[in-house]
Amino acid sequence: MEEEAKTAHVLVVPFPGQGHLNPMLQFSRRLVSKGLHGTFVVTTYISRSKNLSSSTDPLRFDTISDGFDEGGSKQAASMEAYLSSLHSTGRKTLTDLLKKHQSSSNPIDYVICEPFLLWALDVEKNFGLVAAGFFTHACAVDNIFYNFYRKMSPDPVSGPVSMKGLPTLELQDLPSFIVPPESYPANLKMIMSQFANIEKADFVLIYTFYKLGSEVVETRSKICSLLTIGPTIPSFYLDKRIQKDDDYGIDLHTIDASISISWLNMKPAGSVVYVSFGSIDNINEKQMEEIAWGLKRSNFYFLWVVKISEEAKLPKGFAEEVADKGLIVNWSPLVKVLASEAVGCFLTHCGWNSTIEALSLGVPMVTLPRWSDQPTNAKFVEDVWRVGIRAKVDGDPIVKREEIEFCIKEAMEDVKRNEMMKNSEKWRELAIEAVNEGGTSDRNIDKLVSQFINS
Ligand code: UDP
Repeated sequence: MEEEAKTAHVLVVPFPGQGHLNPMLQFSRRLVSKGLHGTFVVTTYISRSKNLSSSTDPLRFDTISDGFDEGGSKQAASMEAYLSSLHSTGRKTLTDLLKKHQSSSNPIDYVICEPFLLWALDVEKNFGLVAAGFFTHACAVDNIFYNFYRKMSPDPVSGPVSMKGLPTLELQDLPSFIVPPESYPANLKMIMSQFANIEKADFVLIYTFYKLGSEVVETRSKICSLLTIGPTIPSFYLDKRIQKDDDYGIDLHTIDASISISWLNMKPAGSVVYVSFGSIDNINEKQMEEIAWGLKRSNFYFLWVVKISEEAKLPKGFAEEVADKGLIVNWSPLVKVLASEAVGCFLTHCGWNSTIEALSLGVPMVTLPRWSDQPTNAKFVEDVWRVGIRAKVDGDPIVKREEIEFCIKEAMEDVKRNEMMKNSEKWRELAIEAVNEGGTSDRNIDKLVSQFINS
């Protein structure tokens, strides 16, 4: 009897945070749409709290443990403690997971993981698997970190930095982890670790699309051969080639999408400022207050995502005072909101996902970067892609209400808006082109799949 050909099986291992799960989930679904069998790894905590075992996704889910099965990173005493536990328990449980799969009828053939899960790459290589590392930062940011890792750049603390393929970057444009390096030691260590054994990866992938930064992609490609992948946002919002793919599918925060969407549906086109600072940002009370009064002073409608953990920082009585103009929610379906006609601009912290999602949906941005890679993304939004305006820090460091009001008005009204809109539409078209049949991302995914299969 002839044996049935086995479907190639890829295992995808992301860092268990919202900004990492989202692009990796969508990328995995693209791989499944190309005929691979895909298993996506989450932590036990995420799997249980989101009830993924009953998912109808074409993607399969499996689990490893970060050592905090009851509360995930929230349960850990510090970032250092979380990362150390993820490393030791993650390593052990990924080994167990691979042993289980390798003795099943559909063993894993290839693995894709985030390069700063150094231990994952080691485990995969111990099993002799073909592995790819997927960098989920912008290519420019990755290049800056790499130069810093190799000490090829001048000391970033001392002044502006010039690097091939990038505009001149002032200190305020650099990732906060390297200005100065001791600010966030655990994060910096984790970021730097991603370059330590990347040569073990058979393929290097980066979350961007070619035309978004061809120069920096070319510069980075001279260091190692890489494939640009993206934007990996639900297909419905770009090329619509994957059926029923209109949501990332895992929200780590509790969501009631209908509240935001029905509120937006009642607002005129281009009339709403959408405000979100991502999944992990922790804004101080003073800054929250300035944002609140800046939004009120702008006099536009606004939809503001304030996570439950941040709610107590809102000025007393603010939500009631602005009830005719603003809606405050704890979480929202961000991509769906950006796609709403009612949204005129996006006040964002410039996390890489939020940034590439706004570029993909053609929404102008007011940027209020806070830490990590956000300042660099904001620099590109304003000066390279020219789709936004950066709200300037004034002392403290804090962005004052008058500045927020000014930037919102620039993005919502008149000449500056027209220019941003024109550019936003251009980037949206190029994002669609990249993921559509024959586009740069589509071709790179085909190339990866065929090289996987032939390796
Ligand atoms: N997000 C969302 N709803 C919200 C806020 C954020 O779905 O109310 C999603 C957003 O679409 C993005 C991710 O959470 O994909 C956040 O990632 P990003 O890189 O922008 O920021 P981080 O959370 O890592 O700072």
